[in-house]
Amino acid sequence: MAARTTRIGILGGGFGGLYTALRLNQMDWGMDGRPEIILIDQRDRFVFLPLLYELITDELQTWEIAPPYEELLANTGIQFCQATVMQIDVVENVVHLAEQPPQKFDSLVLALGGQTPIPDIPGVKEHALPFATIRDAYRLLARLRQLEQSERESIRVAIVGGGYSGVELACKLSDRLGERGRIRIIERDSDILKQSPEFNQKTAKAALSDRQVWLDLDTTVESIAADSLTLRHADQVDAIPVDLVLWVVGTQSSELIRALPVPQTEQGCMQTTPQLQVVDHPHLFALGTTATCAEQPDLPKTAQVAMQQADYCAWNLWATVCDRPLLPFKYQPLGEMLSLGTDQATLSGLGLELTGPLAHITRRLVYLYRLPTLEHQLAVGFNWLTRPVANVLSAWR
Ligand SMILES: Cc1cc2nc3c(=O)[nH]c(=O)nc-3n(C[C@H](O)[C@H](O)[C@H](O)COP(=O)(O)OP(=O)(O)OC[C@H]3O[C@@H](n4cnc5c(N)ncnc54)[C@H](O)[C@@H]3O)c2cc1C
Repeated sequence: MAARTTRIGILGGGFGGLYTALRLNQMDWGMDGRPEIILIDQRDRFVFLPLLYELITDELQTWEIAPPYEELLANTGIQFCQATVMQIDVVENVVHLAEQPPQKFDSLVLALGGQTPIPDIPGVKEHALPFATIRDAYRLLARLRQLEQSERESIRVAIVGGGYSGVELACKLSDRLGERGRIRIIERDSDILKQSPEFNQKTAKAALSDRQVWLDLDTTVESIAADSLTLRHADQVDAIPVDLVLWVVGTQSSELIRALPVPQTEQGCMQTTPQLQVVDHPHLFALGTTATCAEQPDLPKTAQVAMQQADYCAWNLWATVCDRPLLPFKYQPLGEMLSLGTDQATLSGLGLELTGPLAHITRRLVYLYRLPTLEHQLAVGFNWLTRPVANVLSAWR
């Protein structure tokens, strides 16, 4: 009797999940050992989040940063299932999906990412926009168009959160809105970009200052209304008029992950072994935003970490099936890049420090290389090369 094919379910097709699936597909499985690899995501497309800001300034198009899974997986043996995961039975390895029959697997990869925490502050849920998905970007673009088409002289934008997203959004929005933009960043800490290398922090501050982005440091949000924002700084409380509020403060695991009966940190991250297996559950692998390992608790929640973990996760799944030793994950910090407005960036890492258009081009090339498949890299790269020519030709017509 032929041996039953192993079924590997990968939940979440982001940086952790999709790259694990693609790497697994490249492994040498021998004559009859290739498992069924099933990638499950609620959306129909992968999103390369570090390039999401470029939609605001029209520097990139959706198809470039968010290719559909069907397209990415067309020439692979990976099956894609578009469905929302509702519940995970971590004992039986059964995944319950919305409007689809449950699926049973031999091994599971949990890579469901995080979500922006919405605190219990009056008005945040109703009036502030998050910025972490394509849908969020489209909502922001729709609101911007509405404001731009209005009669108002200035467009007042408040961005809550002085981390990477807050700073990158502020620069892109400033470049898009030009003279009409009045942009402020609200940060409860005493500084912005506290985790960044000094060079990037300094360059980012200069970029914000050049664009006259106002910084409200040591400041918290008391409440948000349709057209105003109430802020507290020390003992002073002020209401300021505002047309748009963006909420980009941190990330947290979803309720689904928090409800799982597996060891978790206080922040709701699943605890894993260095081999990326969930503690006490060797058939469950977890990576990306929702996972943390006691041996390396301070890893940043970045795409860079998730992609490196994907290599190890794929290897360790292969090793589990093929009865080989598993490898402990080792993070290699490769540096940090931030976009700072149209065609501008800052970059620090591997002994290199760059700013301006050179940093912008380097960042683009690094991300081009990081896009999920060679076909997609070629399509996007070709478009980047030919777009300037196409723009010149259309200007002549
Ligand atoms: C705007 C923005 C810019 C960023 N820029 C950078 C950067 O420049 N550099 C960097 O290193 N990092 C950056 N990050 C962080 C980086 O994107 C994340 O760390 C990374 O995406 C985490 O990977 P992940 O696999 O854990 O989650 P994700 O990539 O978020 O993937 C999770 C996937 O799970 C799916 N999912 C969630 N719940 C369900 C469900 N119930 N059912 C089915 N599917 C589900 C989602 O649709 C998603 O596709 C940025 C993040 C944002 C939001």
